[in-house]
Amino acid sequence: MGALRRKLTRAGLPGLLVTFLPDVRYLCGFTGSNAALAVTRRAARLFTDGRYTTQANEEVKAARVQIGSSSPAVAAVQWLAAQPAVAMAAYDPAHTTVAELTLWKTSLPSHLRRSFLSALPAAFVEPLRRIKDQDELELMTEAARLGCRLFDHILQFIRPGIAEMEVAAELEHRARLLGAEGMSFETIVASGARSALPHGRATGQPLPRRGFLTLDFGIILKGYCSDMTRTVFLGKPKAEERHAYQSVLEAQQAAIAAVAAGTSCGEVDEAARGVLRRQGLAELFTHSTGHGVGLEIHEPPRVGAGQASRLTAGMVITIEPGIYLPGHYGVRIEDMVAVTRDGRDVLTPSPKALIEL
Ligand code: ZN
Ligand code: ZN
Repeated sequence: MGALRRKLTRAGLPGLLVTFLPDVRYLCGFTGSNAALAVTRRAARLFTDGRYTTQANEEVKAARVQIGSSSPAVAAVQWLAAQPAVAMAAYDPAHTTVAELTLWKTSLPSHLRRSFLSALPAAFVEPLRRIKDQDELELMTEAARLGCRLFDHILQFIRPGIAEMEVAAELEHRARLLGAEGMSFETIVASGARSALPHGRATGQPLPRRGFLTLDFGIILKGYCSDMTRTVFLGKPKAEERHAYQSVLEAQQAAIAAVAAGTSCGEVDEAARGVLRRQGLAELFTHSTGHGVGLEIHEPPRVGAGQASRLTAGMVITIEPGIYLPGHYGVRIEDMVAVTRDGRDVLTPSPKALIEL
């Protein structure tokens, strides 16, 4: 909250309305599903409804809690407008619907309707969230390690003939037993020709006797997401399949080696893409190299071609190049990587040499 206040002062903003729940959680710790946070340079107030009275009082730090029956955002807007030194308040248009804005405006006294609420020109809280502090890094390391334990476990479970869905179910069941709050996205289990689908959700299809199997999954631990992908082989790979796997692995390692404070996201992407280009495989790499991760599974920065934004110590990103031959197979390898002052830390140390099952 201190960093946010300094940023408000620097930006010359007297008031801020925060309604995006990951931002609310980041700033004051509240994890409920209905809330708005109003921040001025002197005070902060969290608005929620009666279902959350106990939880809000337990969780919220650095803000006073106000329980109401109307919309928390409307209550927050009205509270901001009633603060003596607050002539205007900014809101994030990326997380505000037209209907919400209309409702907020009509809740204001008529002389404030036109000018009191002002759209932020760029995300305001998210750039703070990009840089993880020590506590966040420890939690994310723990979440990533839990993902690695799940991968170890699922290797024992995988065999030809069981459905992709059974693999996903086992993984998710085990995740909860190991303490995960939930999965950070729908588990991807894509076998055989389905491994060519970058987002192949688990289906009822039985695992084939031979072919690639891509597992992309993540868990949530105290709100923080993990994300990792491993591609394994059922049976014996052909030389071409082995070559495809090695190329992706080499691209992934090149991108990890490029991660450093001060390097642009585009340069990291190019490190992976360049390896695949030299192998004549660049056209099969149809997505970005990675993304930020934290309270949300996908956060800025985007680690993609031409992205100028620079890495800073404390960021956590994924490195996940892949190649996809529609109708045949696909390979993706993904790690979570923390940017450090003198390089990088791979948070997901599961083995990456091609595993044959
Ligand atoms: Zn992933
Ligand atoms: Zn990812």
